Amino acid sequence: MFIEIEDLRDEPLHVRHTYGLGEIAFKRADAVLAEPVLTDFILTHKDRDLHVDGSVKTILRCRCARCASEFRREIVARFELSYAPHPGNIKENEEIELKYEDMDIGFYDGVRLDVDLMVAEQIELSLPMKLVCRDECRGLCYRCGRDLNDGPCGCAQEERDARLSVLLEFRKKMDE
Ligand SMILES: [Zn+2]
Ligand SMILES: [Zn+2]
Repeated sequence: MFIEIEDLRDEPLHVRHTYGLGEIAFKRADAVLAEPVLTDFILTHKDRDLHVDGSVKTILRCRCARCASEFRREIVARFELSYAPHPGNIKENEEIELKYEDMDIGFYDGVRLDVDLMVAEQIELSLPMKLVCRDECRGLCYRCGRDLNDGPCGCAQEERDARLSVLLEFRKKMDE
């Protein structure tokens, strides 16, 4: 969905839209969309400077970074963004980007706003680097692969025993 700036009126534009699965190019190795994406925002503008205030809501199907199990996570991302027309000149562009660095300002071509891209970005930004099924997830044992959420596997014990037997072996040699 694009919003043509030429078509904007003076009053705020209220957009409510539901994207079907596959209509939003959201891509992450450990998460995919599980439900349609609901977006609801108000766009105001001053000439070609835009201000967008709204939210994105959906449910993702995720894979836990620790235990590799699948889980669903609801995403509710609130956002407030400003967009300015992208300056043509690259040098000038760098200066402007520096100037706006702290201001959370994005750029667009000055002709139309790519809403799909904005929505996909907001979903991405709302996610942490690593997705875990729950904070207390214990993950998998790195030796036997058992899911430690189901209880301890015994590898830790074995490892202690192994270290101890090496020590005993060493002592025996010293005594000889
Ligand atoms: Zn987990
Ligand atoms: Zn184990």
